[in-house]
Amino acid sequence: MSDLKNKIENQLSAMYESGTYKNERIIGSSQETSIFVNNNDVLNFCANNYLGLANDIRIKNAAIQAINEWGYGLASVRFICGTQEIHKLLEKRVSNFLKKEDAILYSSCFDANGGIFETILDENDAIFSDELNHASIIDGIRLCRAQKNRYKHVDMEHLESLLKKSTSKTKLIVTDGVFSMDGNIAPLKEITELSKRYDALVMVDDCHATGVIGANGMGSGSYHGVHDSIDIISSTFGKALGGASGGFIASSHKIIELLRQKSRPYLFSNSMAPPLVSASIEALNIINSDSFIFERLNENTSYFRQRIIDAGFEIRGDDHPIVPIMIYDAKKAMELSKKLLEKNIYVIAFSFPVVPKEKARIRVQLSSAHTKNQIDLAIDSFKECAQELNII
Ligand SMILES: *Cc1c(COP(=O)(O)O)cnc(C)c1O
Repeated sequence: MSDLKNKIENQLSAMYESGTYKNERIIGSSQETSIFVNNNDVLNFCANNYLGLANDIRIKNAAIQAINEWGYGLASVRFICGTQEIHKLLEKRVSNFLKKEDAILYSSCFDANGGIFETILDENDAIFSDELNHASIIDGIRLCRAQKNRYKHVDMEHLESLLKKSTSKTKLIVTDGVFSMDGNIAPLKEITELSKRYDALVMVDDCHATGVIGANGMGSGSYHGVHDSIDIISSTFGKALGGASGGFIASSHKIIELLRQKSRPYLFSNSMAPPLVSASIEALNIINSDSFIFERLNENTSYFRQRIIDAGFEIRGDDHPIVPIMIYDAKKAMELSKKLLEKNIYVIAFSFPVVPKEKARIRVQLSSAHTKNQIDLAIDSFKECAQELNII
């Protein structure tokens, strides 16, 4: 016991010293563009609340109504006594929305990614995974017996060379649709071309893309015009689609049928709670009926991107509400985010090991709920604080 205690203490103090220890900031309000932090109202530019639905009155009412009608929880996994009509309805709505044959719910996308690879692949198969894929994909792959290939980030030559060498029966290419640290969108046109040439399947984790990019928020495949060539989509209800929790996989009937029979996080973890299920259905209703919600998001994104460049900053990423503002120096990035918080702008600085060494940045995330005035305030504060620190 004392050995373990020492080991833990050493690890924790190493984190303190290297500055990688994560302190959680306590929020004293609901999740909105303006939140209560450190006894202050601050403008929030670091949530994945892309459509501003996390505290939307329609979503909240759907959740409250579901509690009254379907109860708080199910105290069961799906296959014992945890499947209600609303679970089947949400699965139907997800598969319609993503134009796939079927869909299956999980408690989270982390669970969805954790439960798919070992279910559908065995030792005769091979996986090809982008080196910067989400931790849940990495963990899910670890659990399966397929041959594992990691390709350099969005490097299509490297991916092709690995596909060429492979003699495995089933080949599965898996990628994040949007990479959250750079805000870049996976090159799915090229990936789906390679998949056809080498007879591979394609799986996309669209957590930062569902309800954000593509036609009507259909995601990264739609953004690149190759949606139909994506075989498997995993995603979350915890970001744009309401921001609570829950995940899903949309794919062919057969794949979903097998997941229901064998996928361990689905079989052995509780059914999604009724308020979350109904609120997720409402989130899909909202994005189907309110096309302005995407217009506002796109407008806010391009407005912020243009104005922050005009202010003299260098940014990264594609046409996406994740806007990494490159500071390079880790200490300066930290100081800038601290100064910004003093001016009531809440943004997060990322440095090594979350991003490569000397590539520290501040990540801004826009929402369709931000007002132009709020964005202007953020830009002005960025300018002032960065000038004080001689960054621009
Ligand atoms: C957020 C995220 C997840 C995890 O989603 P949860 O539903 O919160 O578990 C998985 N993959 C990617 C790419 C993500 O961004």
